[in-house]
Amino acid sequence: MLIESIIETENLTKRYGARLAVDGLSLRVARGEIFGLLGPNGAGKTTTIAMLLGLVRPSAGRALVLGRDVQADPVAALRRVGAMIETPAFYPYLSGYDNLRVLALAGGLPVARIAATLEAVELSDRARDRVRVYSQGMRQRLAIAAALLPDPELIILDEPTNGLDPAGTAEIRALIRNLAAGGRTIVLCSHILSEVEQLCGRVAILKAGRLVAEGAVAELLRRERGLRLRVEGDPARAAALLAALPWVRGVEQSNGALLVDAPVERAAELNAYLTRAGVAVAEIGVHASNLEQFFLEVTGDT
Ligand code: ATP
Repeated sequence: MLIESIIETENLTKRYGARLAVDGLSLRVARGEIFGLLGPNGAGKTTTIAMLLGLVRPSAGRALVLGRDVQADPVAALRRVGAMIETPAFYPYLSGYDNLRVLALAGGLPVARIAATLEAVELSDRARDRVRVYSQGMRQRLAIAAALLPDPELIILDEPTNGLDPAGTAEIRALIRNLAAGGRTIVLCSHILSEVEQLCGRVAILKAGRLVAEGAVAELLRRERGLRLRVEGDPARAAALLAALPWVRGVEQSNGALLVDAPVERAAELNAYLTRAGVAVAEIGVHASNLEQFFLEVTGDT
């Protein structure tokens, strides 16, 4: 099956003096996905996005967007790309509609699309109100409407729920899902990993400019599964017994429980083994990691 790449980077690299901000990044984003770009502060996310948008020139490698080289052919590559890099400064005394009109005229984008973009972000009935009276959530939605002006196939959103309350965050999340359901491809940068876990099918995690993990969220987390058990008596003794098994890759004690890195289908076997050794198992179950734990593991220094 041919999966069409909306973004493809090859060895994409950006060097600022001696500092490698992005180091040999090779990524693919397929059409229709919600792709998460993650990493701690300074990992190179913004620099990567800036290279994808033709705002920063790579030191080496290249970025293809919609099949076109961003450096060689920026107009064709970026014609159907919308981005919200940070909440843009709207004119507070102009209406939402008029702000979009200013942006459309400045960017050579069709004014006729404004109504549809306001509809998509559910701001039609407030379009004539001044932005001054908009809530933070409405401003973020207006910023997304601005990103929709070029009728984009690819939308890049950097921290779209920054500063929003839970209700505002849920609205933006629903909006992102709708955009993807309509066939648009989304690249999402966010520090809120629970949000990324809920929204994104695949993620790339950067650390110090390098790709440290990439894949389907479900797949990355499946690798993190193991068994969690509680024993009666001495957990340290149980841990030592378990560590001696060839198929146990590691044992960790956590709040009185034992986290065992082992195939989950071996639960019954593990239980029988401990029982034979005189250790009573009080509780056994599957321990599933979440994206936040996974993220800390792959980006941590230990
Ligand atoms: P954050 O989550 O804090 O926004 P980030 O992952 O977006 O971080 P970048 O902003 O891409 O990270 O920065 C990556 C590295 O490149 C950092 O060490 C940063 O200091 C450096 N850097 C970014 N822009 C420049 C620049 N114009 N000149 C010099 N160094 C830069």
